[in-house]
Amino acid sequence: MRLNPNPLISAGQLQARLPALAEEISRGAAGTPLVVLVVLKGAVIFASDLVRALRVETELEFARARSYRGCESQGLVELTVLPETPLRGRHVLIVEDILDTGRTSVALTDWVRGQGAASVRLCALLDKPSRRATAIAADYTGFVIDDHFVVGYGLDYDEGYRHLPAIHVLEP
Ligand code: 5GP
Ligand code: MG
Repeated sequence: MRLNPNPLISAGQLQARLPALAEEISRGAAGTPLVVLVVLKGAVIFASDLVRALRVETELEFARARSYRGCESQGLVELTVLPETPLRGRHVLIVEDILDTGRTSVALTDWVRGQGAASVRLCALLDKPSRRATAIAADYTGFVIDDHFVVGYGLDYDEGYRHLPAIHVLEP
């Protein structure tokens, strides 16, 4: 695997997208506090930028879902970390790094609904619609991308590259 040194989405483009995305989410929340459920580990860097741009009160919670080994989607999603705070009656915003097959987000939104949340919305930094294997769509999307395996700004390949400030394509 080789990192394409030219960013697919530059650090500047990532930062420039944040205010509009945060504005959409803030308007959607209409003043009600949100539980921001950050999906570990890939969404951590995005979420830390995003919450600071929101105009609503937020609580941070974390969940971990595993469906990926290396580049191959396994199809099976396991929720290994879940929030401890009760979600009953709360408005939950799930923050994902990337919406690929959609299996992770389906598993998480189902779980959150099952907890009795008042509403569940999904924000994905990146969306690869060409790879979708489920009926889910993000309520808020940062960027739509083609079918590349990407790393950086939180996204990893076997735990590497998360620290890169931009999104890069990892080429075979
Ligand atoms: P899904 O369940 O939608 O197929 O996959 C979601 C998860 O797969 C993401 O949260 C992410 O961890 C991983 N994933 C999917 N596509 C990519 C990609 O292009 N790059 C990286 N680094 N991870 C990906
Ligand atoms: Mg990953």
